Amino acid sequence: MIHDETHQTQVPRFHTVGVGAGPANLSLAALFGSATAESIALFDRQPGPGWHNTLLHSGVRMQTSWLKDLVSMVDPRHELTFLNYLVTTGRMFALLNAQFDVMPRMEYVRYLTWAARRIPNIHYGVTVDSISLGKQGFTLHSDGRELAHAEHLVLGLGSRPVIPDGFAGLPHERGFIADDLTGRLDAMRADRDAPVAVVGGGQTGIEAVMRLVGQGFTRILWFGRRLWMETIDDSPCANDVYRPAHIESLQKLSPETRRSVIKRLDPTGDALTPGAMRALYQANYDGLLDLGRYPVTLMPGRDVTSAVLEGADVVLRCRTAEHEEEHRVRYVVIATGRENTPIPFDDDLRERVDWGEDGEVIVESDFSVRWKGMNGHQIYALNRARLSMGLTDANLTLLPVRAAIVLNSMFKREVFAVADELCPVDWG
Ligand SMILES: Cc1cc2nc3c(=O)[nH]c(=O)nc-3n(C[C@H](O)[C@H](O)[C@H](O)COP(=O)(O)OP(=O)(O)OC[C@H]3O[C@@H](n4cnc5c(N)ncnc54)[C@H](O)[C@@H]3O)c2cc1C
Repeated sequence: MIHDETHQTQVPRFHTVGVGAGPANLSLAALFGSATAESIALFDRQPGPGWHNTLLHSGVRMQTSWLKDLVSMVDPRHELTFLNYLVTTGRMFALLNAQFDVMPRMEYVRYLTWAARRIPNIHYGVTVDSISLGKQGFTLHSDGRELAHAEHLVLGLGSRPVIPDGFAGLPHERGFIADDLTGRLDAMRADRDAPVAVVGGGQTGIEAVMRLVGQGFTRILWFGRRLWMETIDDSPCANDVYRPAHIESLQKLSPETRRSVIKRLDPTGDALTPGAMRALYQANYDGLLDLGRYPVTLMPGRDVTSAVLEGADVVLRCRTAEHEEEHRVRYVVIATGRENTPIPFDDDLRERVDWGEDGEVIVESDFSVRWKGMNGHQIYALNRARLSMGLTDANLTLLPVRAAIVLNSMFKREVFAVADELCPVDWG
């Protein structure tokens, strides 16, 4: 039984409940106390604080600056700044003098863990399998029991890996998602010269390639759809896409134009970090010196349509701009992207919500979800509106700003000022 601050033994009541305790909801919960003395509770199925732990290979780096923590952008004096984490855990000088361009993901996980332990009412190891609406407001359920009641609901469910249909028939020991690579390595190491394919030209793909190189694999084929393995455009103007002024400009566009603009902005964020690309090229060159050939072959411009077990081999079929290709490998690591985690609304709530053509909830500019029968209750959805709010909604760059917009909307006053007046770009 979960106890709230009033130590009731019945189902506890909170002002707001959040499903998911990833960075999105952690930021909201961290800033919640600035808006009200009421309480917010978060529920997460993970056993404890963590962040994409299955992809936390040694040496992997963030794609965002350390200044983009849970709170600083709207409240730099908050107790849970990254700077305060560095000072209070004694790692300030060590991290500074290591002179990272971008910090290790492990450090961000440590920071999140440190912050999560200072935020009250986070319940781990709980899968919310149903959300209903009744006289008590929202009720979260898990395994047939009621976890909590609340006035408002915030969905911070994150994403899950996608396995394309054409890969679905592969036995797991031969084809698996990148999240499972670490667990498969012991079995694969028996033959490091066996060809291994990594499918997916994104950051998860390159990190899987680097992990395999680091483990001594010598025949890695890395497939990507784009015409080259594209790195993020980290130039100043590209970075201006990740600020409130740009999000505001997006809201002035028609939904169709906005969608197309957001897609064309992909290279500003949905690509590889330049540092990872350099590390791969250098590791590949070292491999060339050792082996007389590159251990990694980059295979851009390929749409891998299927992966099927034939005898001892996995056969990959790909389409290029002009022809079809086949490649035979021993193992396939699938890094083909992620999709939104399904929302566990019960049938009644599902019926009340307005769904867009893409099967997703419709998210307004204050991150509230459009639904019928609100009666004062609000549902907010974080990291679910990439096609209406832009790429920033799918990453960490504006977490505190988004949380501030939600809190301003929830409490119907300006709890935090969200201003961005010094933008040199007129987005039209
Ligand atoms: C490997 C990786 C690295 C990334 N690196 C960066 C980066 O450097 N910079 C950047 O800007 N973006 C990055 N991103 C993109 C994005 O910032 C992250 O995906 C980020 O985690 C999104 O935060 P979130 O809180 O929305 O979701 P998540 O971090 O995915 O958290 C969602 C949480 O909800 C829980 N959950 C889901 N459903 C339920 C349920 N029914 N019941 C209970 N709990 C549930 C999950 O257990 C999870 O903990 C990265 C993404 C990945 C996959």
